[in-house]
Amino acid sequence: MASTRSTHNDIPRVTPASDKPIHYLDHAASTPVRPVALEAMLPYLTTQYGNPSGAHRLARNANKAIDESRELMADLLGAQPGEVVFTGGGTEADNLAVFGTLKARPGPAVCSAVEHHAVIEPIENEGGSVVGVDHDGQIRLDELESALGDGVSLVSVMLANNETGLTQPLAAVAGIVREHAPQALLHTDAVQAFSWLDVAELGQVADLVSVSAHKFGGPQGVGVLVIRDSATLAARAVGGGQERGRRSGTQNVAGIVAMAAAAQEMVSNREAEVERTRRLRDRLLDGILDAVPGSLETGPRTLKTSNIAHLCFEDVESESLLFLLEKADVYASAAASCSSGAMEPSHVLAAMGFSRQLGFGSLRLSLGYTTSDADIDAVLTVLPKAVQQLRDSEEGRG
Ligand code: PLP
Repeated sequence: MASTRSTHNDIPRVTPASDKPIHYLDHAASTPVRPVALEAMLPYLTTQYGNPSGAHRLARNANKAIDESRELMADLLGAQPGEVVFTGGGTEADNLAVFGTLKARPGPAVCSAVEHHAVIEPIENEGGSVVGVDHDGQIRLDELESALGDGVSLVSVMLANNETGLTQPLAAVAGIVREHAPQALLHTDAVQAFSWLDVAELGQVADLVSVSAHKFGGPQGVGVLVIRDSATLAARAVGGGQERGRRSGTQNVAGIVAMAAAAQEMVSNREAEVERTRRLRDRLLDGILDAVPGSLETGPRTLKTSNIAHLCFEDVESESLLFLLEKADVYASAAASCSSGAMEPSHVLAAMGFSRQLGFGSLRLSLGYTTSDADIDAVLTVLPKAVQQLRDSEEGRG
């Protein structure tokens, strides 16, 4: 997308670089907004624009829309409506979980080494400890147990990883936390999991659960932190006292309504979508592993969400590979979306024991509700050639 300045004002206008259809395999980074979500949000941008904290009719309409969305999100997340706190996305939900807990109950915090930066950085900033994972990306439960103790105030372990799709044994983690740090709150970042796993069920063991709308067909910049009634945490944003004082600031009404509509459609299609994407993902992975020598899958497929194909290629740099793929209209990413751009080695792959060299040759192809067989065919045509081209040019240089 190229951005140009309008001659009439200073608002940047986006012009599509081309009208060619693209093969979008970066759903773990962000998904297209579902038509039902877009339709649901439009009135709250055009005619129902009242501030939900106000008293007049437009305000009451906005407030009612938030209440209904809260009920829906609560139902889909296995929570009570009062336990749903709307946030400005997954990062804010994760930050609120960590900083809010530690402010309310100071004490050590513990997380896994493969958490998203939105969890691991706050925990490291607060002097918390990081528990290792094995080569399959699974948290080392014995290390977790040793890191716990009476004073520990928060444990955060994600449900599914954003780079590899590898899931964590959250019920086992919860068992250990309840036994060895009974006073600690357990947070799970379910941002990548919600589209593919029954978070309402799996998240029951957690006190705090984060999700983000743009990972399941809602808009960017809106999410939820479930805070169980039994858990207390301090607000990070204070002011107007919205969200029962847990997150002040006028709510993003349109975004919240769209998120709830997207979540409703996503959950009702989830079982079928898991099967459909698993079939597509397995065809994609098997095709790549067959056609590209020196390629390997990171972690066992049986432990992954159904939508992620994550590989490493020997003697290839992901940055160059992504460039060639994009030239052929295939959009993917290498490390976590939030850190790509700056090509630093992935902390997730490093924690799993992959060499720096292999880490630099990683590729994440993530599927979603719009992915079709044609997208998989396109990758299978383009990718082996692109890898070969890069290896040939490297040999030529050497
Ligand atoms: N947690 C995980 C596991 C993620 O994948 C992401 C986004 O990539 C986030 C948190 C942050 O969410 P957001 O982009 O809504 O801030």
